[in-house]
Amino acid sequence: MLCRAMRVVSLASGSSGNCTLIVSEHARVLVDAGLSKKQILQGLRKILGALPRLDAILITHEHADHISGVGKVARALQCPIYVSEGTAPFLEPLLAGKESVLTFTPGQGFHVRDLCIEPFRIPHDAAEPCGFVIEEESLFTSLNKRIAVATDLGTVTEEIRKRLVECDLVMLESNHDIEMLVNGWYPEDLKQRILSDVGHLSNDTAGQTLRYLAEQGRLRTAVLMHLSKNNNRPQLALETVQEHLKGTDVIVAVAPRDRMSAIFTV
Ligand SMILES: [Zn+2]
Ligand SMILES: [Zn+2]
Repeated sequence: MLCRAMRVVSLASGSSGNCTLIVSEHARVLVDAGLSKKQILQGLRKILGALPRLDAILITHEHADHISGVGKVARALQCPIYVSEGTAPFLEPLLAGKESVLTFTPGQGFHVRDLCIEPFRIPHDAAEPCGFVIEEESLFTSLNKRIAVATDLGTVTEEIRKRLVECDLVMLESNHDIEMLVNGWYPEDLKQRILSDVGHLSNDTAGQTLRYLAEQGRLRTAVLMHLSKNNNRPQLALETVQEHLKGTDVIVAVAPRDRMSAIFTV
């Protein structure tokens, strides 16, 4: 029991699709299903074997890159969908009426097998966007490991910092390099949307946030998520964040946009 661990892997991360798998001793949950059913099932088979079982699909928000495959995957694997009340109506076009849809309220935790899921509000231009802290429950409460997934957020609020500071592994958005975005070809209104408090997080803000978590919390591993194809480069995101984390022993990795990441253990 003392050696229990959670494993986490991103199947893809970015504006073309998001899907993250978290596996504990007894539970298997997806955060978002923004790829095709084929892509998601292929990824799950690679990691979980020929007949993957899934216990939950947790939805962060209704943007297509987070939900496009949710109905088909939920039906194929007969797996419940957990979604905030505010986001739930936006899933309806993807559902066939056979799925089990369970709603939650941000700030109120719930259980999926041996996992305690705590959804928290994030600032983004969607109905009721959420991040998740996912904790594997054990009899040895002081040893419980926690993972956070926080992507698509315009800013890091005090409330978010409080949630992330309790986590061993944080999957955090590192969307853009501010200079690349400002000097790039995006129309001005799109640039302003991305830079706004309900847009996306820059490499520097991700780095500053992770520095705080390393100093004030128990951060061991950081996975940079949702990198922009046009306003970022994986190496640049990595180097920018590593610069902020200089002198700490936090391991930093980048989740690729269009393929599976490494498998991280916590
Ligand atoms: Zn997104
Ligand atoms: Zn979004």
